[in-house]
Amino acid sequence: MLEIGYLKLDNPLAIVSPKGSRDLAGLNGSAGLVMLGRFDLSEVAPSEIKRAMEEWRSGSALGFSTAGGDIDDLAEAGRMAAEERRLMEVVLPRTDGIADAVEAVKGTGAALSVRAGPDAVGDLKTLGRELKVAGADFLHLDLRGAGPGAAKVVKRISEGGSPPIMVRIDVGDFKAAKEILSMGADMISLSEKADPEFVNWLADALKRYQKIVGWYNAPKHICSGGDLRAVAFCCPPVKSCPLLGALKKIGLTPQEFIEMKIALTRGTPLEPGEGTCFGSLTWCCKITKPCFMRDAVLERHGISPDEYMRLKKKLAEELLER
Ligand code: SF4
Ligand code: SF4
Repeated sequence: MLEIGYLKLDNPLAIVSPKGSRDLAGLNGSAGLVMLGRFDLSEVAPSEIKRAMEEWRSGSALGFSTAGGDIDDLAEAGRMAAEERRLMEVVLPRTDGIADAVEAVKGTGAALSVRAGPDAVGDLKTLGRELKVAGADFLHLDLRGAGPGAAKVVKRISEGGSPPIMVRIDVGDFKAAKEILSMGADMISLSEKADPEFVNWLADALKRYQKIVGWYNAPKHICSGGDLRAVAFCCPPVKSCPLLGALKKIGLTPQEFIEMKIALTRGTPLEPGEGTCFGSLTWCCKITKPCFMRDAVLERHGISPDEYMRLKKKLAEELLER
C-alpha cells in the first residue's frame, strides 16, 4: 500500500513502542510498521539497536527512534538502518541543524523519519518544507495534545509542502482515522498500548478501503474543506468558489489551471467524458460522490472506480509537483 524507499508497508498504521513492550507480540504483524525505542545514540551503539530489533519476529516493517548523539553517531546508525532495511527516526529537538542531521542519515541510504511535537520547533510548516528539501522520507508529528484541531494542523503542513506525514494521534474508530488521512496524512501512529484487536480491525478496514476506493487518504473536495490535492476533483473555475483560493496557494491562474489539467489528462483514461458536466472525467468529482453521468462514462470505457481514483491521485501529484 505504501512504499518508502526500500520499505514496503501493507497498511498505513504504525505502532510506537518506547520500550519494545512484549505486548507487541499480540499484534501479529497487523500494523504496517513498528517503531522501537527511543535509543539515545550517545549511550547505545547501533549494534545494540540492531539486536533489539532482531528479537522481533514480526510481519510488520520495523524501525527505531533515536535521540542524542552527534552527526557521526547519526551516520553510523543510518548505515545500520540501510543495511537492515529499517526505518530510522530522529527525534527533535537536536542541537545540530535539522538539515545537517537529515543529510548525515540520508547520505547512508537509510529511510528516514523525523519526529516533532507541536512545541519541538516553532513553525511546523517551515519544518515540513525544510525536511522535504533535505530529503527526509517522513515527518512524524506528535499531535496527541492538539484535540479536534489536529486535522487542520495536518492540512496546513501538507499544503505547505512536506515529506509524507505520519501523525501520532489516538484514534478510536475508522471515521477518526479517515478524517486525519483525508487531510493529507499518509500514516497514523498509535501507542503500543492500543488494543491489538482494534489495530488488526482498523488495518484491515483501511486495506479494504484502499482496494475499493483506490486512494486510502483521498482528500475531501476543496469546498468541503479538503486540502490542495483535491484540485484533481475540481471543475473548471467558471464561478466564484473556494477553488480560486486554492489556486492562489498553488500559484496558478484559473486559465493556467484549465490548460494544465487538460494537458495532463490528454490521451489518458481521464480524457473522455461524454455526457458529464464538463465533457471530460478530468473535471469530475470524487468517486464517493454519487453521479450516474460519470459512472456511465467509467463503465463505457472499462475504468473501474478504484482505477479512476488512482488516476486522480496521479493527477493531483502532477498538478502540485511544480
Ligand atoms: S471547483 Fe467545484 S469541486 Fe472545486 S471547490 Fe469549486 S465547487 Fe467545489
Ligand atoms: S458529471 Fe458528475 S462527477 Fe462529473 S463533474 Fe458533474 S456532478 Fe461531478
